[in-house]
Order: sequence, then C-alpha cells, then structure tokens
Amino acid sequence: MVFNLPQRVSIKDVQNLYLTGQATVSDVVNYFLEMIKEKDKNIQAVVRYNEELSKKLAGEIDQLLSKLAESEILDLIKTKPLLGVPYVMKDNILVEGEELTAQSKILDGYKSTYSSDVYNKLTQAGAILIAQTNMDEFAFGSSTEYSGFGQVTHNPWDNDRVAGGTSGGSAALVGAGVIPFAIGSDTGGSIRQPSSFCGVVGIRPTYGSVSRYGIISSTSSFDQAGPMTNTIDDNNLVLSVLQGKSLNDQTSIETKTKNETPKIKIGFPKEFLGDGLEPAVSEIFTDLRNNLSTEFEIVDVDLPLTKYNLSVYYILQTVEAAANLERFDTVRYGQQKGQEMYFDGRSQLGDEAKRRVMLGTYASSSGYYDAYYNKACQVRELIRRDYENAFENVDLLIMPASPFPAFKIGEKNNSDPMSMYLADIMTVSQPISKLPGLVVPGGFIENEDSKLPVGIQIVGAEGSEIDLYKIAKKIKSN
Ligand code: GLN
Repeated sequence: MVFNLPQRVSIKDVQNLYLTGQATVSDVVNYFLEMIKEKDKNIQAVVRYNEELSKKLAGEIDQLLSKLAESEILDLIKTKPLLGVPYVMKDNILVEGEELTAQSKILDGYKSTYSSDVYNKLTQAGAILIAQTNMDEFAFGSSTEYSGFGQVTHNPWDNDRVAGGTSGGSAALVGAGVIPFAIGSDTGGSIRQPSSFCGVVGIRPTYGSVSRYGIISSTSSFDQAGPMTNTIDDNNLVLSVLQGKSLNDQTSIETKTKNETPKIKIGFPKEFLGDGLEPAVSEIFTDLRNNLSTEFEIVDVDLPLTKYNLSVYYILQTVEAAANLERFDTVRYGQQKGQEMYFDGRSQLGDEAKRRVMLGTYASSSGYYDAYYNKACQVRELIRRDYENAFENVDLLIMPASPFPAFKIGEKNNSDPMSMYLADIMTVSQPISKLPGLVVPGGFIENEDSKLPVGIQIVGAEGSEIDLYKIAKKIKSN
C-alpha cells in the first residue's frame, strides 16, 4: 500500500484516497485492520473483527467505484456520505449474522438474527464495519472494566488507566488514532465520559432522535446511540446519517433540529463546577470561560436539584434494567447451562448486572414502588424543569463530563460499587431530561508521567445539536 493518512484521520481524508485513485476500499479496510491489530495489543479495545463482512462490503463498493469517474464518485458521496469509510461499533448493537454478546457470558456464541437501524443506516450510507468493541457487561459501568469475559480496555494516552465506560472500546480506538469513527451508546454517560477520557469528540443525541431498534436495551427511557470521532464535522456528519424517525422504534422522533441560534448565550452551572472537581479540571474550565467571554455572553446558572441526580438515575436505571434483563432467562435469550435451567443460566450474569437486577427489582416491588420508583419518576420531572428554566435564560450550558481525568485501572472496581456510581455525577441528568450532550477535547492535564485529556461537555435543549457543534468549534483545542 502506498498511500498516506494522517494520524487523526477524518472521513474526508479516507474518501480523498478514492477520489484520487490512490487506494481501493479493500486496501483501506486492510490498512485499518492492520493498524488496529497492532495498537490493540496495548489497549484491548476489540472483542471481534468482522473480516469477512468488511471484505465483502469493501469488494462491492470497489466494483462500483471502478466504473466511476472522479466527478461521479463525488456525486455518489452526496447520497452515501460515508462511502468506503471503515468504523467500529460497540458490542451491543445488532448486525445480522455477526456474533454479539454485550460482553455477557449469558450471550456467549449468540449471533444476531437481524440488524439494528443504526447498522442499516450506516451501511446504506456506505460505511464498513470492521470490528466490534469492548464494553461493560450490558452497558453497566463507567470504566470498561466490567466485561463478563474479563477483558479490560486501556486508555490510549496512558495504558495504566481506564478508557472510561461503557463505550470504552469505541472511544479508545478513536483516541488511539486508528479509526475515523466509532459508534457507542449512552445511557447515563457512556459516550461522553469515555470521549472525555480518550480525547475524542462524542455526542449523546437528543433522546429518540436515533432509533434504538436492534440495540440491547439497558434503560429504554435513557438509551441513545451516537458517534465518536476525531473531528467535529465528522461527528455532525455521522450523526446526520443516524438520526430520524423509525417505524421500528415507537419512541423515535423526527429530528427537530432547530435553526442555528444567532447570538448564543452560555451558562456555566455552579453545581457542576464547584467543590468536588479535581483542581486541574477546574482550571481548564476557568480558562475556557475567560476565553469564551471575549465573544459570548456568559452567565452563572443554577440547577438546584443536581444533588438528586445520581439517586434518581440509579433508581430509574436499575428498575428499567431489571425489567429489560428478564428476557435473558435462557429460554427466550441466553445460553442454557447446567441442570437448573433458569438458575444456572442466570448465574452467568456478572456481579454488576446481578446488583442492578436486585436493586431494580427491590425499588419496583409492590411494597417499595411508591417510596422509590414512583418518587424517582416525580423528581425526574422536576430535574427536567430545572433545565427548562435554565434554557429560558441561556442557549447552552457548559460543564465537565467527569470531575477527574481517566483514573487508574483497578482504582474503583475493587472498592465499594458506590465509588464507580459517583464517577457518573456529570452525565446522568441529561438523559434524565432527554437532552443532548456533546463532548469535545478541551485540554490536557499533566499527571505524574502522563498527559491526560479533559473533555468539555456542552448541553442544550432538545434538538439543539447544531448549536452544540457550533460552540464546540470555538472550544476544541486540537
Ligand atoms: N455509568 C452509568 C451506569 O452504569 C452509565 C452507563 C451507560 O451510559 N451505559 O449506569
């Protein structure tokens, strides 16, 4: 192969190779497969390569391209914006005929019988899946240390640290510079927190704007899939391919992306920027505020119910997760093991998954339903109103995606499970309120002997993605 691609490769960089005839799609697929295999020795982000599938898709596109002139390829890219672009995807999004486990032993050996809307849309746009990525079992966790198979993904900036979770495998590969884009899913931060830890651009879209059909449900009223990329334009492009109402998902909505706001007013919520932030993270936000204030009106904002975010999230999350996991009963889904079909089968669930089933079953049981689940639903509505009030005064909010940069492997999973839950403090209120959140690299912290990225989270009202990208372009540091 004689072509060159930059280290932080963009979608355009890849497609230029086809326009100038420097490479075939098959060459490019091989190139990325080789790069990932080399890098993955250190970061352990891949759970499965889709070599047969990717070679087949690449071959088909190559056949098509071989008959086209440059201008015709350009035209084709207008209707298939991801033409010939390889990507990786989290192990909880279905691809017909490919294996899928959501990193649970209970699904070991399972092959998807149909494809998700996300996969179908990406394929229709010309993208090529080359690998599926590591995650915490059933997307419960915050570090990608909780795979049921024991695989732990390492941060590409410092291999002793976590990549973040639960879409850690996807974020780590983009952060390592070995893939133009990756798909993750975000229930309570699983796209945004690993994007922050790995120094990539990642969006959790407005709830319902990306169909959940064919994504293994963690928490149906929170789950959203979204892209992780090196550049903001690429993020926007992949998101535009993914969004749209689907008849397969009753909660999906037509994208109501609002028009660009001409004079954006930005709020900095006090509750997200006060005590509890690591000082070096806090400094990055102070500098950012100063920089932005030369161009934008900036005000302090109150989100007084922030203190209830984690309690509300973990009650609603576990209740919905416990219900969603019922289908893995080894009869409908899941491997049968041992003599006692249900008990032996269910015992294949990992500790964190069992914890969620127990907590969620308790919080929704007839004796405790009013005290926990019902109360959490009521407070959810109040938290949503907090944001609604804030957006009467400002257009966007800026806050961290995590109070600290990537932590050390083993630092939180060996102790009390609460310490892992506390890591989600910055990323659960947006899903509670159905809002989009975009994370962009905002700077680095020099830590011991490594340099760790810190992400900036921009949050807007439903459908405000266009404004999020606009401000992101003013912020992104690299
Ligand atoms: N850390 C959160 C949880 O464990 C969010 C995970 C996610 O977004 N999938 O529930």
